Amino acid sequence: MPCPTRAFRGISLAACLLTMTAVTVAQERVPGQMPNPTKAPPAVTPGATPGSPPSDAIVLFDGSDLSQWASQKDSKAAAPWTVADSAMQVKPGTGGIQTRRAFGDVQLHIEWATPDLVKGEGQGRGNSGVFLMNTYEVQVLDSYENTTYFHGQAGAVYKQHKPLVNASRKPGEWQTYDIVFRAPAFDEDGKLLKRATFTVFHNGVLVQDHVEVMGVTAHDRPPYYEKHAPKLPLSLQDHGDLVKFRNIWIRELD
Ligand code: MG
Repeated sequence: MPCPTRAFRGISLAACLLTMTAVTVAQERVPGQMPNPTKAPPAVTPGATPGSPPSDAIVLFDGSDLSQWASQKDSKAAAPWTVADSAMQVKPGTGGIQTRRAFGDVQLHIEWATPDLVKGEGQGRGNSGVFLMNTYEVQVLDSYENTTYFHGQAGAVYKQHKPLVNASRKPGEWQTYDIVFRAPAFDEDGKLLKRATFTVFHNGVLVQDHVEVMGVTAHDRPPYYEKHAPKLPLSLQDHGDLVKFRNIWIRELD
């Protein structure tokens, strides 16, 4: 029924138009027939405890060794960081480490702890980073009562998106990131077809809600995209601080 040109039965013209618009949108969301999936979702056995790897995860670090990792300076060399007490720790000056495997779209679980002995301030306090595709950083930082630029604190997509909230635990305490990352897409000429996206939970709290990545998360220049392979290693940053990591697993989503 079309809207009348004047108020009709107590409904204003504007309200009537709004109602009709809502009906139109609702109709567009239903494509004529009920959805009818024909293929069963694969069965996945969840981890025995919250945060432990499900059956289809690739375990990248279970506390025992760095066999899944290589040096970022020389991808054929072993990862130079130390392993003790079921955790790996940055060995300052040796450079970052990267996975031996390459990944595109993923779900990632990683646990980290900044030093309990607080030294420095701002970006100089417990700095590291989780780089998806060796390129796009979710910042790791001791952001407990530690001020820095907002898009550089823990949970930030570095220099692009500040976290929605600061969910940081105290220095020395174990913290978690659960990250969903969708890789960017490029055409054959290197033109960007689709931006990368991040969804991030910090200690179970949503801090990035499907944000679009603007490009490489460089610290000294605006973000930009440069064509790269559809799958690249995951890397962890050596920023000179004694940050620890443990219980790292990943699920491929592509
Ligand atoms: Mg960093």
